[in-house]
Amino acid sequence: MQTNFTEEQLKLKDNKSSEKILKKCVHCGMCNATCPTFNLLGDELDGPRGRIYLIQDMLENEKKPTANVVKHIDRCLSCYGCMTTCPAEVNYMHLIDHGRKYIEKNCEDVGENFPHEARSIHYDKKTSKGIYGKATPEEASELLEEGIEVATIPWVDKSEN
Ligand code: SF4
Ligand code: SF4
Repeated sequence: MQTNFTEEQLKLKDNKSSEKILKKCVHCGMCNATCPTFNLLGDELDGPRGRIYLIQDMLENEKKPTANVVKHIDRCLSCYGCMTTCPAEVNYMHLIDHGRKYIEKNCEDVGENFPHEARSIHYDKKTSKGIYGKATPEEASELLEEGIEVATIPWVDKSEN
């Protein structure tokens, strides 16, 4: 796969490793066949090839993680069934770990203010920062009913919040 990291971005060890791995991926989609979330949900973005695309786009373009991207990355079970069928031996494990680290680093922890901040971002279209924080299941349901996409990010250690 073609990559477009800048020289500056490649000074970061994780980017350098991910670039090497991304170049090996030929986008064949064979990995999707052994991915439980792809088979269950039938959405390209819930399979390894789609997630690889999302991660590459986020890293190369230094995008703030959106709730939609977080959702698809979150749904990965880290079972690595995809790695068993990849003919190019793409190290998906590194890519998903890197994507998750990037998400955690590039979202602001707004703690208990999460519902309020999420509404501000949604209704004030000028802001596009990524956030994470705490919400009760009821608050999360209300946000979803308002059309505000939220996702759980279980890899964040809540004990540190
Ligand atoms: S099987 Fe391997 S090479 Fe093909 S799309 Fe999946 S990760 Fe890329
Ligand atoms: S680790 Fe498992 S759930 Fe995640 S993309 Fe690979 S096969 Fe799918």
